[in-house]
Amino acid sequence: MPLPYTATPIQQLLLPEALHAGINILVKREDLNHTHVSGNKWWKLKYNLATAMRQGHQTVLTFGGAYSNHIYATAAAANRLKLTSIAIVRGEETRPLNHTLSFAKEQGMHVHYVSRETYRQKETSEFLGLLHDQFGSFYQIPEGGTNLLAIQGVAEFARQLAQEVTFDYVCLPVGTGGTMAGMIAGLEGAAEVIGISVLKNGAFLSGEVAGWLKKFSDIPYGKWRIETSYHHGGYAKHTPELRALIEEMKTGHALPLDAVYTAKMVAGVRDLIRVGAFNEGSTVLLLHTGGLQGQYN
Ligand SMILES: *Cc1c(COP(=O)(O)O)cnc(C)c1O
Repeated sequence: MPLPYTATPIQQLLLPEALHAGINILVKREDLNHTHVSGNKWWKLKYNLATAMRQGHQTVLTFGGAYSNHIYATAAAANRLKLTSIAIVRGEETRPLNHTLSFAKEQGMHVHYVSRETYRQKETSEFLGLLHDQFGSFYQIPEGGTNLLAIQGVAEFARQLAQEVTFDYVCLPVGTGGTMAGMIAGLEGAAEVIGISVLKNGAFLSGEVAGWLKKFSDIPYGKWRIETSYHHGGYAKHTPELRALIEEMKTGHALPLDAVYTAKMVAGVRDLIRVGAFNEGSTVLLLHTGGLQGQYN
């Protein structure tokens, strides 16, 4: 993969409630794997970009909202690999551009806005046909980057992680469920996987993850579940408690968190410790999936 990758550290998190409960908390700082294509997005893009290049594509096209970490990462990765990138963004352009989209444009990405109604039709052959008429041939990456090649990339990361460190549980934030499916697939039961939904009404995500796993391979997978009550009001919504947690983790534990994903995971894990969800003596590994660029929006 011509996209550079930096090896990432594992940080111990000394939370008083964890010490009290006899639980060891580790954080895999995957947010540090690349300056711009960071966290889970590096792994989700890895085989997609390799495939695009192997198939001779010069252009990648993807979809997302105006604050999408996936669009940000795709723009940077495509620029680095000398691929043209196009983003189909939901909603109208708002000026000044936010940090995510101004960065994407600086990286050379073509940002193309469509109405929410059109965006809902993005998977239809009619709309994709129009995009091909307008932009020519391209390699298509879905919204959020979740597809089987993304799961393959994350599964590879999970296998490496299980070689590097021993843990009983891994916790991660869940948006589409692609990263979670990759973790479950790669760990093959080596640890229990607990996802924290960042979406309100995230119950459907279990079906999404199960569906991806089924498509990915027939092997039986280890234990996993998604917690749905730590969304703090829904996607990109936050509460004063979440803000306070971000500040506390930054100043007290040298752990930078983003408000959309990773802070909700840490808040969820703290509550899970409180309710006794983890066995005494166990090691809980939190996956820092990145997303820190979002704090500049
Ligand atoms: C995109 C993203 C996620 C969600 O990943 P999914 O595979 O869609 O579940 C989690 N954390 C961060 C920081 C992200 O940018």
